[in-house]
Amino acid sequence: METIKTVIIGSGFGGLCMGIKLKQAGDDDFIILEKADDLGGTWRENTYPGAECDIPSALYSYSFEHNSEWQFKWSGQQQILKYQHDTAAKYGLGNHLKYQAEVNSLVFDETQQRWTVSTTDGKQFKAQHVVCAIGQLHKLATPVFADADQFNGPLFHSGKWDHSVDLTGKNIVVIGNAASAVQFIPEIAKVAKHLTIFQRSPNWILAKVDRPYSKREQQFSAKFPFAAKLYRKCIWALGEYGVLPAIKGNPISKWLVRKACLANLNKHVSDPELRAKLTPDYPVGAKRVLFSDHYFPTLARDNVSLNTDGAASFTSTAVVDKLGKQTDADVIIYGTGFQTNPFLADIDVIGVGQRTIRDAWSDGAQAYLGVSTHGFPNLHLLYGPNTNLGHTSIIIMLEAQADYVIQAMSNLDQLAKQSCEVKSEVEHDYNQELQARLSTMAFSKIENSWYKDGDKVTNNWVGGTREYVKRLKKIDMAAYTVR
Ligand code: NAP
Repeated sequence: METIKTVIIGSGFGGLCMGIKLKQAGDDDFIILEKADDLGGTWRENTYPGAECDIPSALYSYSFEHNSEWQFKWSGQQQILKYQHDTAAKYGLGNHLKYQAEVNSLVFDETQQRWTVSTTDGKQFKAQHVVCAIGQLHKLATPVFADADQFNGPLFHSGKWDHSVDLTGKNIVVIGNAASAVQFIPEIAKVAKHLTIFQRSPNWILAKVDRPYSKREQQFSAKFPFAAKLYRKCIWALGEYGVLPAIKGNPISKWLVRKACLANLNKHVSDPELRAKLTPDYPVGAKRVLFSDHYFPTLARDNVSLNTDGAASFTSTAVVDKLGKQTDADVIIYGTGFQTNPFLADIDVIGVGQRTIRDAWSDGAQAYLGVSTHGFPNLHLLYGPNTNLGHTSIIIMLEAQADYVIQAMSNLDQLAKQSCEVKSEVEHDYNQELQARLSTMAFSKIENSWYKDGDKVTNNWVGGTREYVKRLKKIDMAAYTVR
């Protein structure tokens, strides 16, 4: 069994950030275990046509690694993946990355204060620290429809796009119409014979008003990093002070965001019946507010229809809705998102006293500051419970978390101790505060979403990134039992 100080699981933005921060702290004693054969996380996995980030790249990038070569304000998947590759190479992560290493178990040894990390191919590592950076959106949610196995044509999920299927001239049915679907639907509608979207509920959609950056803007951004920083700050402020207050329930912000979404809808859709079908009946921000310049115009195409009666079953060549109407389908595509709960579903995590994390989180995942959970010493979570955002870049949260973990590690080293475990009462009080605040927010004002596990909001943070970063700025070791 290989012994190593730190095992990082996952090589998306979180895992790479952790590796870079460790190297900057002078610590080379770590590996990054990645289940696939390349780095990139969600940006490696999601290759559907039109895949791009709905947070502007100037903010959806590391604060310490400015890129003046973004081609668009909102970059496409391939450019983001290239940025991840370039950054990993620049910071020397190459030798630390171990591919095709899918972690399936983590077991804590209380005597040695060490984790045993096992992978599906039978390898084992003994580590003092485990940093879990597996993300929240990687397990595909695939709905079950009656007679689904009867369907004869290709059927795939947007998160595992089948590029071998030629969609030209085909009757395509798309089930789902949220963040991923509004990006690929406009692309595939251009080549489809007919495309039918099965919409279960509509979304609040803001206009993106995207455009390519000019050569001059790119040169300016490279030459004047201060101006680039200011630009980043302005984008951040728009999310933090423009969109977040609406999610928090501020009536004026709610009204403004709602108004902007309705203006976007009304600009492109003139049919009052269609407008009504596309207008959500839940508060802005309860589910992710989407950004698209192309989705509503696509609905106006002659070869595109919207079905709001619900998919019920499949035949060999069609999807049948709940009213019995058949829609011809050569190809079916699920844009049905990801299974986000329970957290860490594919890893058996066994902590102090042989307790599993599944048991510890049986009432829904929780963690102190989203990073530490009682009973699992030195298991550090990046993008853990209650750290997702609906209004700005997750990379801000990941950087704060990685810095926090570095502090925990160096405090232990200075104290000549082996492990830190967040105290049960600290985690409990923190989560009481969090859930009380979340109960008044838009996320709680809807029955189901990927932000929730039953009635509990398990995925989202309660406020702005300013508050979160401040709370993680200096670790309070008194919150932990140190051994
Ligand atoms: P999603 O937001 O969970 O949307 C899933 C869609 O499928 C919804 O329209 C949902 O309807 C529908 N659906 C689910 N099960 C269904 C069923 N059984 N029958 C009919 N419809 C069903 O998934 P996603 O679009 O993949 O996005 C997930 C998250 O990924 C986003 O919230 C976002 O955070 C992230 N994302 C980000 C970007 C980006 O640009 N940064 C791009 C894509 C995704 P209901 O609304 O009725 O549940």
